[in-house]
Amino acid sequence: MEIRIIYDNNSKPGFISSHGFSCLIDAQDGYLLFDTGWSGPILLENLRRFNINIEKIKYVFLSHFHWDHIGGLPDILQYIKPVVYALSSFSTNFKNEVKKITELIEVKDKIEIIPDFISTGPLSNKNIVEQSLIIRHRSKIILITGCAHPGLERIIEKTEEFGEINYLIGGFHDFNNLDILKHIDNILPCHCTKLRDKILERYSEKARGIGAGSVIRIE
Ligand SMILES: [Zn+2]
Ligand SMILES: [Zn+2]
Repeated sequence: MEIRIIYDNNSKPGFISSHGFSCLIDAQDGYLLFDTGWSGPILLENLRRFNINIEKIKYVFLSHFHWDHIGGLPDILQYIKPVVYALSSFSTNFKNEVKKITELIEVKDKIEIIPDFISTGPLSNKNIVEQSLIIRHRSKIILITGCAHPGLERIIEKTEEFGEINYLIGGFHDFNNLDILKHIDNILPCHCTKLRDKILERYSEKARGIGAGSVIRIE
């Protein structure tokens, strides 16, 4: 399977960088888009540069109610009607607007949203509620985080109920307990990860910096 980084603070040549995060994941019957970045036009342009047929996006998973993760949604809903997975804690106005256009599923607990794609369910830190995505691919476990506001340690702990993590991808925010990453084979920090350079230095053999335009191939 492939995971393409569509939107990030950094970018590879040929792609636009912008504050926010989004990645596109191969699912059984199409794509799942994880978050939508800050700007719809940039999201759509980077998808175009990847040559993605956006009609194949069947699902949109929104990690948390911050604009740099949900901002691109209205633009993409002008063209497609994916099933949108949001948290029930998102604003009522937002949920109502989405429901006018397409199906919205409110995630309240840990749940398998589609086969082998599992939401951690809402985890919170102060006022910020966030869900992360766990993917089972063959014998591998992949964890994708938006900003990891609830604390990467907690999210990792939740994920390890399914087995050891092989791939960790996304924004790690101010996570600084680098020791706990030592069991993870592939560490791909981006977006809001404050200690990104430290992580890349400490785990140089298995961590790499990614940005919009990166493709992660998982056997
Ligand atoms: Zn955030
Ligand atoms: Zn963010």
